[in-house]
Amino acid sequence: MTAAIEIRNVSKSFGDTKAVIDLDLEVPTGSLCGFLGPNGAGKSTTIRMLMSIIHADSGSVQVLGTSALKAKDRIGYLPEERGVYRKMKVGGFVEYIGKLKGVRSSILRKRIDEWLERVELPEIRNRRCEELSKGMQQKVQFLAAIIHEPELIILDEPFSGLDPVNARVIGGIIDELHQQGRTILFSTHVLPQAEQICNRIIMIDEGKKVLDGTVNAIQAQFDPRIISVEPVDKNCDLSKIAGTTLVENTIKSNHLLLRLDDQIDATEVLRKIVQTTPVRGIKIVKPTLDEVFIEQVARRRGTKAADQIREELSNV
Ligand code: ADP
Repeated sequence: MTAAIEIRNVSKSFGDTKAVIDLDLEVPTGSLCGFLGPNGAGKSTTIRMLMSIIHADSGSVQVLGTSALKAKDRIGYLPEERGVYRKMKVGGFVEYIGKLKGVRSSILRKRIDEWLERVELPEIRNRRCEELSKGMQQKVQFLAAIIHEPELIILDEPFSGLDPVNARVIGGIIDELHQQGRTILFSTHVLPQAEQICNRIIMIDEGKKVLDGTVNAIQAQFDPRIISVEPVDKNCDLSKIAGTTLVENTIKSNHLLLRLDDQIDATEVLRKIVQTTPVRGIKIVKPTLDEVFIEQVARRRGTKAADQIREELSNV
């Protein structure tokens, strides 16, 4: 299958800051791909290059089989910095954006009504954008990104600023657009979200790709090094089980996670845990993307940097 996005050996710096370094990246046509990494990893910079807003210092960027610039009208783009035309009415704003992408007004009007229904905002067509809440504005901007029915949809942090209900609505639409065969790339630093909806993951850190593959394949690479325990006594001490490290940010939760050291037999550890404390449940689990990512950072940049990333991710 051809790739919807093909980035080869791309670098981009801003002054002394190397935002993207020798990046190779391929997004297969029809995939729903999460573009992950902590703040400052280089996600927005990469996306802006895909949208021809900025240009690579070196390397090549191909989108939908042509140059990024030529493909522009076939891409739907939700930028990280949100902005609707404040004085325009919602219907007028989305119609204006759709027309810029070459769709006729008569088609757009019907489509806009249907979409406003779909995002549970049927009553706002004639309201000025500035009258809407932040979450509503974001939904409107999301509609503006997809109203021309693009083949490729690029969303920069689509869930940031949305409450859980609205995030679910947008997540449902993203899934539906994917089912229709569109290619979707979305960036997020909230890894559990990506884990739920993506079938492919690309992770970058400090401008470099650190992981690329299906969610299952990535998890299998690190499988099965985590044990999840639900102890009867939440305050029990499992920090001294030989061959394991307690994942610190789970200590206050009902389920404690213990990471197995290399070469340690999981079954033996399970036995030791139940001998140490009564448990409601215990199982070997696939690592979360958070865990996988922290491990990657630890390998590349050492444990201090990994601890910092763990702290960042637990604050999301
Ligand atoms: P992410 O989207 O993963 O959070 P960015 O691509 O926004 O990361 O940023 C990558 C790095 O490049 C950061 O160090 C950021 O400060 C820097 N950067 C991004 N855009 C600019 C810019 N226009 N001018 C200067 N530095 C920038």
